[in-house]
Amino acid sequence: MDLDDLVFHPWSVQGPRNVPTFVGGSGSYLTDATGRRFLDFSSQLVFASLGHQHPRIVAAVKEQADRLCTLAPGYASDIRGEAARLIVDVAPDGLGHVLFTTGGTEAIEHAVRMARQHNGRPKVLAAYRSYHGSTTTSIHLTGDPRRWASDTGAAGVVHFFGPFLYRSAFGASTPEEECERALAHLEQVVLLEGPSTISALVLEPVTGSSGVIVPPAGYLRGVRDVCSRHGIVFIADEVLVGFGRTGEWFGVDHDGVAPDLLVFAKGVNSGYVPLGGVLVGDSIYETFTNRPYPAGMTYSGHPLACAAAVGAIGAMNDEGIVASAARLGNLIIGPGLTKLAENHPCIGDVRGIGGLWTLELVRDRQTKEPLVPVGATGGANAPMAAFAKACLGRGLLPLVLGNRIHVAPPLNVTDRDAATGLAILDEALAEADAFLA
Ligand code: PLP
Repeated sequence: MDLDDLVFHPWSVQGPRNVPTFVGGSGSYLTDATGRRFLDFSSQLVFASLGHQHPRIVAAVKEQADRLCTLAPGYASDIRGEAARLIVDVAPDGLGHVLFTTGGTEAIEHAVRMARQHNGRPKVLAAYRSYHGSTTTSIHLTGDPRRWASDTGAAGVVHFFGPFLYRSAFGASTPEEECERALAHLEQVVLLEGPSTISALVLEPVTGSSGVIVPPAGYLRGVRDVCSRHGIVFIADEVLVGFGRTGEWFGVDHDGVAPDLLVFAKGVNSGYVPLGGVLVGDSIYETFTNRPYPAGMTYSGHPLACAAAVGAIGAMNDEGIVASAARLGNLIIGPGLTKLAENHPCIGDVRGIGGLWTLELVRDRQTKEPLVPVGATGGANAPMAAFAKACLGRGLLPLVLGNRIHVAPPLNVTDRDAATGLAILDEALAEADAFLA
């Protein structure tokens, strides 16, 4: 019997699967039960930013496990405090306190709850083409098809269009036009919904799994301004892009703005032990110096997860990982993927920043018709399935989402391994091209 059949798998049809069984890893590679090595070109779900088995994170967790494995949130903990200090140190100004959670979804739920408690307003704005998690509030905030099956329309969420020049909702032809029009649209949505009914706006500073969409310069600053003028809490969802993924510590740093609440997870400790959290800005913090925050979790600030964060952030600081991520995008992955687009007609768009990129595959570069339709399965998804199979066959773990191939290796991937990964993508893309005829 395959033990994997006993596991109920998220986001999946249940039943036997044909996936490698991994038993070990090192750096940018995972090793399966037969001893075969696979290059991880996705950092799993874009969380293993320091790769696998980074010695400093492993040592930090081991040391904490020897000392004190667990502790309730009501007590003070040296390792929890140290993790908070390191996180606050790299965060934008004014975000001085951390609510720890066990992942990103939970952190989004808490950020929205804090905002509603803070200003007493009901509604929350979120962008189309976004992902914010899979629990009730966070899935309703999600602005892509992953929401549809769970949407009861009852979470008080209003969606708006963010900037996305490749498929502009505003008929724009330059980043400047897209930025200006997207901000004017947002202002209209706020005015027509009624500013006094809107508690918060939740936004990925760089859209992650819903498309890798980098906003034009000035957009985040404009969003900050709209929120400030209307008393709306600006919640930056940095779960996927925070902690260096984009070549800055946080996505909002690209525009030099500070949100009121900043949600993180994944890269904070490379996912070695589940951890997420909310960085809380001063004015919202003050709300809860007068009355208790009415929610909590048994494992908030779990010592082993916090130890992993202390190890990971320490390593990121000492190894210059944020600068490495910027270099990776500017010198290796960006140019490498652009070159692939010259050879493969199925590539409609190449976009990304730092260590987070995507290739959007299309049937026709003029019409931009996606190579596979939204939610495609079985035969309709054949081009993407053929591409993924070709990658696995060549020892590469890709991240395929709809008609896109997301490229997000560990931020400390070597130039040589990155070149190997790009060469495998080149070969595997021929499989997708074959469906264009
Ligand atoms: N927000 C964003 C931007 C994400 O990418 C994710 C997960 O991919 C989440 C929230 C949910 O985080 P988690 O899966 O840790 O609950």
